[in-house]
Amino acid sequence: MARVSRRRRAYWAGFIVPAILGMADARSAAQAAETVAQRPGHCAVASMETILRFYGEEDPLLSQRCLGLMHNARAAEYTDRKRLKPFGHYYPTFTAAYQPILAEMLLDRGYAAVSTRTSVSKDGQTISERVVQILVEHLVSGHWAVLHVPGHYMAITGYDRQTRTIWFNDPWRPQHPFTVGLADFINPKRSWHTNRGGEPRAAWDGRVLIFWKPQTDEERMLNATDRCPACGEFFPETAYTYCRRCRTFIDRRQDAHVQRGLDLIALSTQGFDQTNVSRERMLALRDELQNTNPISETAWREALANYPLAPLGAEGIVTLYRAAPALGIRPDELSTAELEQIVTSGEGWYALLAEL
Ligand SMILES: [Zn+2]
Repeated sequence: MARVSRRRRAYWAGFIVPAILGMADARSAAQAAETVAQRPGHCAVASMETILRFYGEEDPLLSQRCLGLMHNARAAEYTDRKRLKPFGHYYPTFTAAYQPILAEMLLDRGYAAVSTRTSVSKDGQTISERVVQILVEHLVSGHWAVLHVPGHYMAITGYDRQTRTIWFNDPWRPQHPFTVGLADFINPKRSWHTNRGGEPRAAWDGRVLIFWKPQTDEERMLNATDRCPACGEFFPETAYTYCRRCRTFIDRRQDAHVQRGLDLIALSTQGFDQTNVSRERMLALRDELQNTNPISETAWREALANYPLAPLGAEGIVTLYRAAPALGIRPDELSTAELEQIVTSGEGWYALLAEL
């Protein structure tokens, strides 16, 4: 008998076992996911919320607004860490989303995540076969996904194996879910959806964020540091952010303390202004965490120095780290109380800095 690798067996089991256990899983409208209508610019996080609610998640901190705040709070730290062009948007202005940040946010809340990058062939004719294989494997397992088409995100919330039909929810058109055949869906030359104005939308570009609550120990290990969550390969010594074979995001963080600190500050904001952080609320939230899931002092200071401050002009997001060199200041020489004061002083942070 031909030797079947473990990976290959797992792949086929994904098709065969569900086919034996359950037959058609065509959905009725009543079983469809309820679409979360997006706020302007919030297509990615609204699509995430659509799926999270469909999974039964009730945590109010997983609303599109909170997810958006946390995304933007993490953006400056992320772009510095990855040496990318600085992020330009202050919440609620939110015209771009970093898919790896969305994936990290899910991982930090106990979800398993497989996030692929854009994967269209050079001639624009096909999506990477490996990426299609990864997506289908997960859809068959009932793992739904936030889907990227150029300029927009939508949610995949169903797959009918018999008719090979995908169900998806568009946060701009929340009235009802839509369907598309798999063959059309994976053809980047084929437009299978329109925007609200009836204009054809660009097709899927191979970027997708699949996520679910892990059920087994093996699933809980999928996103271990330095590991490709799709093929399991370890990349301990290289700087690759993505598995080159699977085009999926690899989490390289040793811990998520700084990002959790940034979330905490973001969730202490008042109204819709990211830079209007309540000092009382922030310290209360931090005290609460210290008993259950503490953030180290070093990470907390990092988070404070990386948090977006009120903009001074038209530049991208300002943080204490970014502003300090020009001001002749070293954030590590400031006390934690001073860092907290700066982050919670709204538009007064710049004047306050001059006094310290
Ligand atoms: Zn891989």
